[in-house]
Amino acid sequence: MAVILDGKETARRIREKLKKNIEKLKAKNIFPKLAVIMVGEDPASKIYVKNKSKACEELGVKYEEFLLKEDISQEQLLNLIEELNKRRDIHGILLQSPIPKHLDINEAFKTILPEKDVDGFNPINVGKLVLGQETLISCTPFGVIKLLEEYNIPIEGKNAVVIGRSNIVGKPMLHCLLNKNATVTICHSKTQNLKEITKTADILVVAIGKPKFVTKDMVKPESIIIDVGINRNEEGKVCGDVDFEEVEKVASYITPVPGGIGPMTIAMLMENIVKTAKNGKFC
Ligand code: NDP
Repeated sequence: MAVILDGKETARRIREKLKKNIEKLKAKNIFPKLAVIMVGEDPASKIYVKNKSKACEELGVKYEEFLLKEDISQEQLLNLIEELNKRRDIHGILLQSPIPKHLDINEAFKTILPEKDVDGFNPINVGKLVLGQETLISCTPFGVIKLLEEYNIPIEGKNAVVIGRSNIVGKPMLHCLLNKNATVTICHSKTQNLKEITKTADILVVAIGKPKFVTKDMVKPESIIIDVGINRNEEGKVCGDVDFEEVEKVASYITPVPGGIGPMTIAMLMENIVKTAKNGKFC
């Protein structure tokens, strides 16, 4: 039976450490503050945003929410971001995705000042990640790496396979693993013979958004399985992309959903806000 990679408990420990760092910042009159922009009424986004605000509250990070109407124009959205870029009391800006289709999210990410880009989606920060330079890393891949490190699981030299190539998870995940000296393969919906590739993975990261997509026969025995997916099954329960009950019988380590990468993602957001507040020349 696989060891469960307990993201919830690991995230709790990380938050405890961060709390101390935040106290130190406050003693220097730096009060970390996160601004969250949400456009429209996406129900899943509302839950994610609520979890982020709860984490801020717990850690004593100030928090300001900007709830924009579904029909806001691109110009209005960019104006708000520019305004928040200029505000000296705000250290981090997060634009919750998805946003309505008539808006250009890439343009919006580009407008967020790289120094305040706590989600690591500004092209400058993405570029630095690709170049292996110190930067703000997007929270989910950052959380995956941190969880592996907290369990002392070596990454260097391992065969890592990522399923999913989104800009927010799959692609930055590829570079995070590469920067840790793994040999990385990335798969997507056009990949042929997926199972043959996933069976070579010492570390398999799954981020596609399909319940029970990864089955026992797709994984290498004794491998490490990281399930990023957040879905609802037929009973309406939250589940990942991996058939957990079957795969845990063959893997050496596995993340649960919920309680795996989800809490790690939020902990890394807090880590990034502390980093921007520390570095901030604007505070
Ligand atoms: P996207 O829908 O943006 O991307 C999904 C990716 O999966 C695409 O690259 C797609 O390929 C690939 N894919 C879809 N079907 C298949 C298939 N049959 N075989 C191989 N690849 C496939 O999703 P996200 O990256 O935004 O999110 C993925 C999952 O992770 C979701 O469940 C989401 O809720 C969850 N998530 C969890 C977070 C957390 O904190 N734990 C944070 C962010 C996301 P192609 O590019 O070819 O279309």
